[in-house]
Amino acid sequence: MQVTRNRIETMAGRSEWFTGAVYIDAVAAPSNVSRLNASSVHFTPGARTAWHTHPNGQTIYVTEGVGRARRRGGPIEIIGPGDRVFFEPGEDHWHGAAPDRFMTHLSMVEVDDQGNSATWGAHVSDEEYAAAPKPEGA
Ligand code: MN
Repeated sequence: MQVTRNRIETMAGRSEWFTGAVYIDAVAAPSNVSRLNASSVHFTPGARTAWHTHPNGQTIYVTEGVGRARRRGGPIEIIGPGDRVFFEPGEDHWHGAAPDRFMTHLSMVEVDDQGNSATWGAHVSDEEYAAAPKPEGA
């Protein structure tokens, strides 16, 4: 058993990987016996990831606010507390806050043999981000 107190500094999301202000709290770190990398990711209004993929897929679980998620070729989905999204391995996608709301999600990924959790691409442009989302419940 290992207790890690709430003393790990919140990290700012890197500008190569995110648009807008994003803050990340570490939840679980990979080790010799676990590939799990989990974090709590806090997006300020309008903030989002760049386009990216995960070698072993990703589950996000929204804990707060209103967000957006999209896979390449699909509609923008509105996501909120209690919603869970799984991105397939290699599926190009982005996720973030709504334009006018904060959004926090837990992120759970399994790193690959080299310890990588994601491969990053282009930023999501303002035009891409501003596209109309799929109506909720549709
Ligand atoms: Mn992702």
